[in-house]
Amino acid sequence: MGDAPKMASRLSRRDFVIAGGAGVGVSMVAGAATPAISGSSVTTWDGEADILVIGSGAAASTAAITAHDLGASVMMLEKSPVLGGTTAKSGGGFWIANNFRMREKGLVDERIPFLQYVASYSFPHLFNPASKTMGLPANDFALLEAFYANGADMTDFLRRSGTLDIGPFFVMDPSQDGDGIPDYGPLDGWNKAPRGRCLGVRKPDGSPGFGAEMIRQFNVKFERIQLPRLTGHRVTAAIVDSDGGIIGVEATSGDRKLRFRGRKGVIFGTGGFAYNRELLNRHHLAPVFGGCGVPTNTGDFVGIAGTVGAQFGNMASAWRAQIVLEEALQYVTVPADIWSPPGDSMVMVNKYGRRAVNEKRNYQDRTRATLGYDANRWEFPNQLMFMLYDQRVADMWAGIHPIPDLPTGAPSIIVGATWDELADRLDERLAELAGDTGGVRLDSGFKNELANTLERFNRFAQSGQDEDFQRGNSPYEIETEPMYGLPRTNTRWGAAIGKNPSMFPMQAKGPYYAVILAPGVLDTNGGPVVNADAQVLRHDGQPIAGLYGAGNCIASPSHDAYWGMGGTLGPAMTFGYIAARHACGRGGSI
Ligand SMILES: Cc1cc2nc3c(=O)[nH]c(=O)nc-3n(C[C@H](O)[C@H](O)[C@H](O)COP(=O)(O)OP(=O)(O)OC[C@H]3O[C@@H](n4cnc5c(N)ncnc54)[C@H](O)[C@@H]3O)c2cc1C
Repeated sequence: MGDAPKMASRLSRRDFVIAGGAGVGVSMVAGAATPAISGSSVTTWDGEADILVIGSGAAASTAAITAHDLGASVMMLEKSPVLGGTTAKSGGGFWIANNFRMREKGLVDERIPFLQYVASYSFPHLFNPASKTMGLPANDFALLEAFYANGADMTDFLRRSGTLDIGPFFVMDPSQDGDGIPDYGPLDGWNKAPRGRCLGVRKPDGSPGFGAEMIRQFNVKFERIQLPRLTGHRVTAAIVDSDGGIIGVEATSGDRKLRFRGRKGVIFGTGGFAYNRELLNRHHLAPVFGGCGVPTNTGDFVGIAGTVGAQFGNMASAWRAQIVLEEALQYVTVPADIWSPPGDSMVMVNKYGRRAVNEKRNYQDRTRATLGYDANRWEFPNQLMFMLYDQRVADMWAGIHPIPDLPTGAPSIIVGATWDELADRLDERLAELAGDTGGVRLDSGFKNELANTLERFNRFAQSGQDEDFQRGNSPYEIETEPMYGLPRTNTRWGAAIGKNPSMFPMQAKGPYYAVILAPGVLDTNGGPVVNADAQVLRHDGQPIAGLYGAGNCIASPSHDAYWGMGGTLGPAMTFGYIAARHACGRGGSI
């Protein structure tokens, strides 16, 4: 539809970058930070505690509670005016091996098969089940072992301490008490416990709570124990002793510079660098158009840890999901990602009119699949994918992101009476956006290729077998989509579904719709490398005394893989727990 309303205030890429910083008063150059400060120059401290916890998401909050309950005094410093970080925006699911609920239900999750699953999914190019470390570098393997050894303990601790009320994650029908949705990686190989690892918090009325509820419950506990939490305090530098160990931090609050001492340790849980465009450009070899985390996650820890000699890992990695391109250009952070693209008579094609990925794959792997580089054409052919669907899907999946309540009810929706007209309108929109996309336009052969693609897709939908991408063959793809919203049953289209419920032939008559999707991130997950005690490592592999990290601010133990729903929060909380234990002299990961 040529008359689709244009974005009233579409921001340019440059504006987006600037806005990303301006919202939080960021003036930091990528990776640069105030040099580490010598402790001997500090004569007065503005505050002190045994443990300083930096950030207030799941990683930092778990560390704070753990340290407190081990008898340490704790102080939390948070850059934002509000607590909770991206965790508060999240679904709040956390993925924990051999957790209490699995044990209660008799779901066996043994150490070796668990390690085989995560090692093979995270490091497919290294994995060797016959080797002592499964083919992985020793430290990478030790992190996986530490996650298995401590995740369930961490969960039991948070329950026992009355911090979180934990149950299964978002069960559609609590009366069914099922084993939960399947993990994201291959289910038929090494994974011997593919369901049951994802937990979540329950609201006081027993209904599923999400990330906001998790943060609320953490804060109820913080109130109860009167744990000091200083919001609006952005940590900018480490304070070191004569041996290079960390004994405190410098923070800015308004125009004041303050110094805080951490007698036993400083634990960072400051999120990734999704909102530091310079770091993204430096470390991401593929395009990233935006994200859905909190804009205060600007990678401050990268600079701070760099000044004290940390080694870095995973810097080109992220928790990924497709996002609506025009929302990414409009907002500093998008309201929602495309977790599971809704609809059965729906395909995603690239600028050549070809499918490039199984549209129903989990968001991490689907988005990674769109980042491939074409060496013959010197381009990323799939960096923009066009989600195409018919009127039936527009009506039945109305209101399930990115399909609006009314068929053209969002500026990002493009409409055409025929597929050819849709292609013309789509290309016009791409021309408008060219300044923000590197000039992506439809290829001259798009219409012909699209006709072939749709004919082939319709054939697959009829037979129930996607011969190109095996869409719908994995239980994840069928079972997860309803979590994000069920199709309406009161439309004129009835309730017919295909042999394979993820596919249905396209309606022969338009109108047809398109929305432009781009690669985005939940947050990045690279940063300083930690050991199995969550201590940040120097280049020589030795830990930096007093410095710990957990969550998205460190090099993720999972590398590029998203092991299952809750695969970011589970490790974040577990390594926060390990860090606090080690800093309090309670053995860390052991
Ligand atoms: C919509 C959405 C849904 C999601 N759902 C899930 C899910 O169900 N399960 C799952 O596992 N993952 C989910 N994720 C991803 C998950 O939310 C993040 O990976 C996770 O919250 C990261 O936790 P964290 O503790 O590392 O960081 P965060 O929660 O991002 O917290 C970092 C905090 O550090 C603060 N900070 C940054 N710099 C400084 C500084 N210099 N000084 C002081 N403070 C600082 C930030 O302001 C922020 O509050 C979702 C993400 C989104 C956006």
